[in-house]
Amino acid sequence: MGKSLRSQISLYILTIVLVVVTLVSFLANAAVNQQFEEYMINQERGQREKIVNDLENLYNGMTRSWNLDYIHAIGMYSLYDGYVLTVYDTEGKMIWDAASHDMALCKQIMRDITERMSQRNNSGFTTYSYDLMQGDRKVGTASIQAYGPYFLNENEYQFIDDLSEILLIIGLLSCVVSIVAGTILAHRIARPITKTAEIAQQISNGDYNIRLENETNTRELNMLFSSMNHMANSLSRQEQYRKQLTADVAHELRTPLTALRSHLEAMSEGLWEPSVERLNGCVEEVKRLSSLVIDLDGLAKLEQENLQLKKIEVNLLEIVENVCVNLEKEADNKNISILVDGVPSNILVDKDRIIQVIINLLSNAIKYTLEGGKINVWVKDEFDRGVVIIEDNGIGISQKDLPYIFERFYRTDQSRNRKTGGAGIGLTIAKSIIEAHGGKITVESNKGTGSKFTVVLPK
Ligand code: ADP
Repeated sequence: MGKSLRSQISLYILTIVLVVVTLVSFLANAAVNQQFEEYMINQERGQREKIVNDLENLYNGMTRSWNLDYIHAIGMYSLYDGYVLTVYDTEGKMIWDAASHDMALCKQIMRDITERMSQRNNSGFTTYSYDLMQGDRKVGTASIQAYGPYFLNENEYQFIDDLSEILLIIGLLSCVVSIVAGTILAHRIARPITKTAEIAQQISNGDYNIRLENETNTRELNMLFSSMNHMANSLSRQEQYRKQLTADVAHELRTPLTALRSHLEAMSEGLWEPSVERLNGCVEEVKRLSSLVIDLDGLAKLEQENLQLKKIEVNLLEIVENVCVNLEKEADNKNISILVDGVPSNILVDKDRIIQVIINLLSNAIKYTLEGGKINVWVKDEFDRGVVIIEDNGIGISQKDLPYIFERFYRTDQSRNRKTGGAGIGLTIAKSIIEAHGGKITVESNKGTGSKFTVVLPK
């Protein structure tokens, strides 16, 4: 079955987010630490230099003596700050020493710092020696013991600790936000596709009455939806055609068969004399059946995928005139006049099939024109095409039916009621043949005033 699209997208987003968040947190942490260390190293160096500077100011050049009280004050301040100070005079005699002054406090402070710093850098206390100068004159030396290359006092340590914690919280928060956003995003991306998949499944189960709304912001999805709708539509139409075909064929067969059966039974049971008229009636019904079968057969052949055309050069006007002659009797029966006009037009076509098209159109014109009506046929020769126009002043086609008359088995209500029509296949066949030639068939019609069919065939 495979994993669902939604969970896959979620998984991808989650993986990307985790990698990015980890990377960013790691890099941010490293960058902050590095910057901070540099700052602290400078800070500590500055601090030591400040102590030395302060000490230098405590030497009285006139009396050549040190102000011991102030040295003590600086020493104690420095000690609390983490710097263990020892001051010597020029002879190397110790003037002030933090360790000997308060050994316990010194040890305590050094232990605290070592303990605090043990997790950050594993160095230890280093001793830095400075010459104490007054102008060019050396007035003594100082040694400062400090945790190197830098150390943090309690506040700084707390600050760094808080900063790491904040970074961790930001990282976790971004993870949570991303997971929520990713899940919503995955849902939004997957939803229309999942819906499409479900609908495709429904369509494949034969339920075509489903339509997808084209309302996403994604062009590709909208294209997919419209193709699916199109597919559902045409499948639904095919299904309708199939049902209609069965119903129509059954209907078309039933009427002549019932008539035939009752007539034949009546004659065989001796109820009816088998007169010529009655037998002719039976022949008519059989003819109707045969023509239906021929129509269906023609349609089946056309619907086979590749309609093979045997093209030869013909004169369109000649073909039209011949068909008119053949249908003259039919037209005469209804007192309909057929007038052919136009110029010869030589085109390359499958002659038999084009004859079939003209027969279908002309016999329709006769069928759907009332007694005493008129049919005009024109043949035109244009630069790269031949044109046939068949116009009648018959019953016409209503605007509501017009878009459908070329569809299989489509008959207007009028032609159904009048029982004049065939099975609604003639125009379908005509259209397929013309389109197979790369031509076009169109109709203009108004109910009650007549119809005009135009066939255009490329040369
Ligand atoms: P049919 O065999 O029923 O004539 P067609 O496919 O030839 O089938 O025509 C389809 C329908 O179009 C007809 O049933 C009829 O309602 C309408 N039609 C076709 N030609 C004409 C016409 N010349 N005048 C009026 N209606 C027509």
